[in-house]
Amino acid sequence: MNALAPFLIPLDVDPQAAPDPRHILKLLPRPVLIIGSDGVIIYANQASELSLNAVTGRGVSELFPSYHADLVRNGSYTTLLRSNRGDFFEAVFAPLDEQQYVIDLRPCIEAPATHPQDNFDELTGLVKRNSLLSHLSCALDGGQASSSVAIHCLDLDRFKMVNDTLGHSVGDLLLKKVADRLKAACRPDDVVARLGGDEFVVLQHDVEHTAAAETLAARMCDLIGRTYVINGNTINIGTSVGIAIGADPSIQASDLLRNGDLALYEAKKAGRGRFRIFEPGMDALLLQRREMEIDLRRALALKQFKLNYQPFVNVVTNRVDGFEALLRWEHPVNGNIPPLSFISLAEENGLIVKIGEWVMRTACIEAMSWPQESVVAVNVSPLQFKADTLLETVASALNRSGLPAHRLEIEITEGALLDDTDNVIQTLNALRNLGVKISMDDFGTGYSSLSYLQKFPFNKIKIDRSFVAGSGADSEAILRSIASLGTSLGMAITAEGVETAEQMARIRGERCTHAQGYLTGRPMSMDQIPAFLAENNLKEGAL
Ligand code: C2E
Ligand code: CA
Ligand code: CA
Repeated sequence: MNALAPFLIPLDVDPQAAPDPRHILKLLPRPVLIIGSDGVIIYANQASELSLNAVTGRGVSELFPSYHADLVRNGSYTTLLRSNRGDFFEAVFAPLDEQQYVIDLRPCIEAPATHPQDNFDELTGLVKRNSLLSHLSCALDGGQASSSVAIHCLDLDRFKMVNDTLGHSVGDLLLKKVADRLKAACRPDDVVARLGGDEFVVLQHDVEHTAAAETLAARMCDLIGRTYVINGNTINIGTSVGIAIGADPSIQASDLLRNGDLALYEAKKAGRGRFRIFEPGMDALLLQRREMEIDLRRALALKQFKLNYQPFVNVVTNRVDGFEALLRWEHPVNGNIPPLSFISLAEENGLIVKIGEWVMRTACIEAMSWPQESVVAVNVSPLQFKADTLLETVASALNRSGLPAHRLEIEITEGALLDDTDNVIQTLNALRNLGVKISMDDFGTGYSSLSYLQKFPFNKIKIDRSFVAGSGADSEAILRSIASLGTSLGMAITAEGVETAEQMARIRGERCTHAQGYLTGRPMSMDQIPAFLAENNLKEGAL
């Protein structure tokens, strides 16, 4: 029988009266896609969004590297496909019409292992996914109600950087050492698997209390995070861990792995080197994020973005020196979504590059219509450096708008300098040669901040608002030392988030050169700028 028959029936009935088959597809617990003859996904149900990260507009070959166009030319048939995450699916292809095809995907737990060595990862000797799934299915079917298993999904932090900077042979040696440390952290009957790249999974047996899983996760974070010495290189990486506990006997192996993955995602979001235990709400969170991602893909085309501008003031002259462009997303249903809620998502899926280009272009054009020649500061994401188009984007934005380069200031965070530092410095030098100013944003919140200041002569350091708001001795000492270091390096210093007159007095005392915060002006829309400037230029000295 055609496996698709149950949900294709409505199409054969009166098309006017029939319900949209997509409503039915949506409810199916397994992934179902509709693709065009060009292999582009036209529709992805929720299950495929979750398990394959399938999204409308993506090519199906991105999800299944072995997919080729011939598959859809042959009419209905069934084949085995392997996803880019390494999962196997029995794929049933069926034409909907001449232009569209349905792919019904059934996850295979037991992937075909033709040779015994297929069960082991050649590099580390750890078991591979198939074998892990068999162990997991057995453990779950074992049905010993008194003890349960835990799945720990691990992903190494900063492994890519090691690979990129020290080469693959060092990367490989590092993976072996990580495998050894993981085995050392576990008991002999636990199963340690490598799923590929820097992804590992540990199956822990006999987990009587959540605390047992937490103890193991903490031990792994600690062991993996200790320094490695490989070929004379000192290497520091870390790991994040997502835990899923299989206490419920009805849970499937693939669900448990997926839950572990969801928890891993949350662990990474909370910061590096942490672990999180799966909670049911995480599904909903991910779904929400997927929905937001779909909306975000359309937001540029639908002109839902706009820029607000927040003034920064020179505390020596008391004049408005310029405005920072801050991105706003006016969502038609959810209202205004703050940038902190969607920028990390846009960075994850690469949309930030297109959005960043739009911000750069728009900020330059809008600054040209201001009544005075103030500077416009634009935030640039680390991902825009990686895309290698930043220089071109900036040069073309200046060209098209006619904005003189000295009126543009680019704000970067330490994140941009973490990976591939040499390339980033090269781009920064090229930007500086155009005449653009470069600021170091959110200073003090990141890693080994001070060393970055010596790598590039920034025009300005922006001290994060946590140090300005903090009244403790620590904040004060940090504020003072950053300000004096910046001053000695000839850099301007902006204090961010200045809200009160006391804070203003303090930052002046510490010799900050600029202030940006609610006290001197909140972010405002483009058309409020002329009035704001008129008023503040009149009452000079009052700021
Ligand atoms: P940021 O670059 O540190 O921008 C300053 C943020 O602090 C803004 O939040 C601003 O509204 C807020 N702020 C300013 N003064 C005060 C104050 O006195 N008190 C308090 N409590 N907050 C103040 P916003 O607009 O929500 O932006 C948040 C972050 O989103 C920005 O932090 C920046 O990292 C990012 N962002 C904004 N626009 C863009 C953009 O176009 N591209 C990129 N890549 N990131 C952006
Ligand atoms: Ca900024
Ligand atoms: Ca900032």
